[in-house]
Amino acid sequence: MNDCLFCKIIKGEIPSDKVYEDENIYAFKDINPKAPVHLLIIPKKHYATLNDLPDEEMGIIAEIHCVMKKLAVKFGVAESGYRVLANINKEGGQVVYHVHYHLIGGRQLRA
Ligand code: 5GP
Ligand code: ZN
Repeated sequence: MNDCLFCKIIKGEIPSDKVYEDENIYAFKDINPKAPVHLLIIPKKHYATLNDLPDEEMGIIAEIHCVMKKLAVKFGVAESGYRVLANINKEGGQVVYHVHYHLIGGRQLRA
């Protein structure tokens, strides 16, 4: 999608602090971190929300979780603990309409 912020980040049109990339996935540091570790993990293919991801393409979500598991180790929060979450649509708190997961850790998180 042309006007999607995260698509522009994937293409390098907007700079990002990349922490991981493969054929299908891109991960980078959140620009406004809520904790010492705050990463965003996204599919390279554009889907606005999880609602728009067809069932037959849900394998990308498993791939994202595999990457998050490895990034948790790399960023030193696998054992101390961390949170992964996806905000979906307005009342879910979604601001950027390109599917993404947050990986947050490095401090005690509250419910
Ligand atoms: P959402 O609320 O949509 O789940 O989260 C969007 C996230 O993207 C927010 O945590 C916000 O800080 C982050 N974000 C917004 N614009 C940029 C940007 O240009 N670069 C980076 N690295 N993160 C961004
Ligand atoms: Zn996009």
